[in-house]
Amino acid sequence: MPKIDDIIARARTENRTYLLEHESKTIIQTYKLPVTQFKIAETEDEAVKAADTIGYPVVLKILSPDVIHKSDVGGVIVNVKDADAVREGYQSIISNVKKHVEKARIRGIFVEEFAPAGVEVIIGAIKDPQFGPALMFGLGGIFVEVLKDVSFRVAPITKYDAQEMLQEIKGYPILTGVRGQEPRDTGALVDILLKVSKLVTDYPSINQLDLNPVFSYSKGAKCVDARIILEESN
Ligand code: ADP
Ligand code: MG
Repeated sequence: MPKIDDIIARARTENRTYLLEHESKTIIQTYKLPVTQFKIAETEDEAVKAADTIGYPVVLKILSPDVIHKSDVGGVIVNVKDADAVREGYQSIISNVKKHVEKARIRGIFVEEFAPAGVEVIIGAIKDPQFGPALMFGLGGIFVEVLKDVSFRVAPITKYDAQEMLQEIKGYPILTGVRGQEPRDTGALVDILLKVSKLVTDYPSINQLDLNPVFSYSKGAKCVDARIILEESN
């Protein structure tokens, strides 16, 4: 698709393999994945204008080719409630990032819709030199980091594979509803897995894709962060 080809070509001319959040989100949006609404601001005034258009509260994030893990460097502020807070947040993100990564090239600030909390899941794809792209599914936070409670399948996957990937993890009951929690819309997660499978199969130049986190709701789901890493060469 031309839009995706353009984004990849631009990264190539800039010698980047890391696609910025808006680039990654535009790509997955092209495959009809549910994504939080976003705008890019290069000045404080633009950030306020973007937040006014999106509606409060918003989330502010750093956009820099030198920052891959944005919250590790103070590059993410959630639940920003009004224009004054946007101005303040804009400046503090820039100063936080400069403190951590002295020479960071800052492309601007990402202004994003604040998504209501959901069960956090991770959907990813990583390329195995032997088997090609494989998909990953897990619950977010400690489930992935500490318990390594994840499932994998080589792409392309079927709907049945995607359903199995969900059911295979130990934390599956969290999705079906425990302790009076509403059951999650697992169909929406299956749909995301299938679309990611298609995307990484269609675009072999994608080496790695991370949707971390995806918020899972009782109806639907939303990708609040997206990161794509390209292959080193074409
Ligand atoms: P990174 O993974 O690069 O540190 P993220 O974009 O994942 O940055 O943001 C860090 C955390 O902030 C997320 O794990 C999520 O909990 C929260 N967050 C990010 N974007 C949003 C959003 N649009 N709405 C609500 N919460 C968000
Ligand atoms: Mg993230």
